[in-house]
Amino acid sequence: MSLSEFALIERYFRKAGAMRSDVQLGVGDDAALLQSPPGAQLVAAVDTLVAGVHFPHGSPPASIGHRALAVNLSDLAAMGARPAWALLALTLPEIVEPWLEEFTAGFAALARAHDVALVGGDTTSGPLTVTIQILGHVAKSTALVRSRGRPGDLLFVSGTPGDAAAGLAIEQSKMPASSDPDGYLRKRFLYPSPRLALGDCLRSYATACIDVSDGLLGDAGKLAHASGCGLEIAFADVPVSEELVSAVGEQRARELALTGGDDYELCFTVPPSEVARLRHNLPPERWGYCCIGSLSETSGTVVTNKGSVIEFSHSGYDHFSS
Ligand code: ADP
Ligand code: MG
Repeated sequence: MSLSEFALIERYFRKAGAMRSDVQLGVGDDAALLQSPPGAQLVAAVDTLVAGVHFPHGSPPASIGHRALAVNLSDLAAMGARPAWALLALTLPEIVEPWLEEFTAGFAALARAHDVALVGGDTTSGPLTVTIQILGHVAKSTALVRSRGRPGDLLFVSGTPGDAAAGLAIEQSKMPASSDPDGYLRKRFLYPSPRLALGDCLRSYATACIDVSDGLLGDAGKLAHASGCGLEIAFADVPVSEELVSAVGEQRARELALTGGDDYELCFTVPPSEVARLRHNLPPERWGYCCIGSLSETSGTVVTNKGSVIEFSHSGYDHFSS
């Protein structure tokens, strides 16, 4: 990718994100020069998507561009941070211009929506792999972490987890497309919405926060473990979308909500004394979150349904293999 590499970067990547005044030098030099606001802490995360592993081969290029950024933005949302800059390392098996155009459009739409500038990257030849590093800011010592939950804190989740796992199954033809007549579930997998506004507000209420990427049960368990607590979840309180219920039934929908992946929702804890203020200032109907349980003194995760304990395996088994 010698001569065409330069043209490619100029055409697709120089203007692929938002314009920000804190970018003193962006794409085109050996490195970017960026100005952090005074008093802020720099927040950094990186995530890689590999074709055939993190998305099916042949996924819509716009979705790949969107998801690669969304999964990183979700990590910043979980810290209560505001994103500012992204770097994109792209490995391509070949240069296909219409593919690049759609990929960049998917990336750019989400980047501009969240005021993220693309300030650099790397372009190489090989099996399709997309790595994005995200940089952002949070006011000093206010970031949300996983480890400050306390026994008795209530556990919340945003959105309707499980949709994306079903959407992926449909993309992989493991579930019939007819079960998703409006394409809602597929859209939830292909174009996740990172909960940046919610994360930003939660710094005033939450004791701990994690983004849900590997399944709610497992990720909530990581939060509880990091906080030195156990976890109780009420199966019947796990939120599920109407679309997921009509595709797989209510029981299966809640199982998927607990054990599916790729949700990019936020799971967070709030002390009981703060819950009234949370609900008043961030009405749950408007912000789309609900209480599903609480942190406990005893380690381990307990899921209860109508008074009895139900067993769940956390291991990332394939939900749709027969
Ligand atoms: P170098 O050899 O110094 O690594 P490159 O030729 O790889 O430089 O890149 C030239 C410029 O283009 C650099 O500023 C780099 O950050 C940027 N760049 C390369 N690939 C991408 C990409 N996929 N997205 C955004 N910027 C990129
Ligand atoms: Mg390079």
